[in-house]
Amino acid sequence: MKEQFISYLQNNDIDGLKKISKSDLHNHATRGGNIDYVVGSNITKTLPIKFNDLNEMQEWYNMNIKPHCIGKQGFIKRIEGAFLQAKEDGVSVLTLSFGIGDKIHFNNSFDEYIENIEKIKEKIFPQVLFIPEISMGRTDDIKPEEYIFDEILSLDYFKAIDLVGDDTQPVDNYKNIYKKAKNKGMILKAHVGEFGDAESVRKAVDMLELDQVQHGINAVNSVEIMKWLAANKVQLNICPTSNVMLNRVNSYETHPIVKLFSYGIPVTINTDDMLIFNQSVSNEYLNLYNRGILSAEELNEIREKGLSIY
Ligand SMILES: [Zn+2]
Repeated sequence: MKEQFISYLQNNDIDGLKKISKSDLHNHATRGGNIDYVVGSNITKTLPIKFNDLNEMQEWYNMNIKPHCIGKQGFIKRIEGAFLQAKEDGVSVLTLSFGIGDKIHFNNSFDEYIENIEKIKEKIFPQVLFIPEISMGRTDDIKPEEYIFDEILSLDYFKAIDLVGDDTQPVDNYKNIYKKAKNKGMILKAHVGEFGDAESVRKAVDMLELDQVQHGINAVNSVEIMKWLAANKVQLNICPTSNVMLNRVNSYETHPIVKLFSYGIPVTINTDDMLIFNQSVSNEYLNLYNRGILSAEELNEIREKGLSIY
């Protein structure tokens, strides 16, 4: 598969790349679907080259995507879109990150919520190696979340945990939750180092004993922290187009993935929010190859890393 993958990259063959096994380990389930399936391709004409900030992105989403997928049916359609997107793009290892709040569509029952996720997977893409992830939003009042998290752990369904929201905030109050998740054998992840600095990446990894970091790109600003991440084999699940469109980096050409990779940090390439950024995993590999950011061999090494975690 290595030779095929390399030759498809060299020939700019997107259909070929779709046939090669890949992973998507940073995908916010309800925003992870195919725009054509969920909304219709006309919407992409309104997509700006860059958003100035997260608010502008949210406004675009609220105006162009949200009205097409509201309520329970809208939720189901978006999850169908996420599995369909993975299937069409040859994503064989798929992590989808689900928010706690979406159980509202299922009579506030986690059992019903999970039953529906599994039903959609079986209908659309039963062959996928699926890693269901629970995502928690950063909040000051953590008590209700701790209570819900105990219920989540008792379900024995979610295999990974992620923390989203303002990543410049400290994560100290999540220590307990992550300890419990670790005891359960879950993969420990958090969004950090997208807006926050290199030191915030080190602190979060240290405090929560993270296995993987969502983004983590600002670690590039500290040689010491890059060496530390490499020595501890902390994986960064990177989403190049998301970083470019949200102005976290100026361009693909200046994306820090190449430097992080050169320090020996395990990195993977992912989509983040397909319903907004509209670049598949295959597209992301081509985006980096065609601009000469990483060689075909290096990109294959990254592809294989993403498939090896399970
Ligand atoms: Zn993300």
